[in-house]
Amino acid sequence: MNEKTGKTYAGKCVDCGSLLDLYEIDFDKGRRIMQCTRCGLYHFYKKGFFGKWKLVKVGRVSDLWRKSK
Ligand SMILES: [Zn+2]
Repeated sequence: MNEKTGKTYAGKCVDCGSLLDLYEIDFDKGRRIMQCTRCGLYHFYKKGFFGKWKLVKVGRVSDLWRKSK
């Protein structure tokens, strides 16, 4: 896979305000996880009706999606 959409994924950490890096993306479910480049905090986004990504939660672990029932 070589998806480089660059700035589309830009975001800021809610904690320290640093830039976020794409950690994981799931187009089928319309989810993506971004990780802070500085403090390593994970940001969980969900895709909305208009194709806009919405931040739904933030956490220190990367598998919050899988644990939520
Ligand atoms: Zn941070």
